[in-house]
Amino acid sequence: MLARAKAAGGNMAERVLIIEDNEQNLKLARDLLQYHGYETLVARTAAEGVALAETGNPDLILLDDRLPDGDGLATLARLRGMDATAAVPVVAVTASAMSGDRERLLQAGFDGYLSKPLDSRAFPDQIRGFCRPGST
Ligand code: MN
Repeated sequence: MLARAKAAGGNMAERVLIIEDNEQNLKLARDLLQYHGYETLVARTAAEGVALAETGNPDLILLDDRLPDGDGLATLARLRGMDATAAVPVVAVTASAMSGDRERLLQAGFDGYLSKPLDSRAFPDQIRGFCRPGST
């Protein structure tokens, strides 16, 4: 597997938790991440995502802002409230494209923002920047 080949270079592969209820969006994010050498964890509800975040030791969390059992801000608050995930970067993934949304999400405490549909060409650099803030 490509992920293993890259990880064998010395660094542990970084692990990204994708919390997303839309199967197509979930598959695209997972496939792109795996192609670029990341390990992935997936959850389709906020509850499942919070539980997996607490036990799965993710390095980064991609959080759909509209989930069947909660919105992004409520889910972010739960993640920030747990010792295991308080310091893990959380990136909002949203279809809303209104101006001001980025500032609103960053002010709310998200570490970053991705709009849907994901840009498969820009995605690797975006993810690298989120995993290692300040490195890009
Ligand atoms: Mn959704």
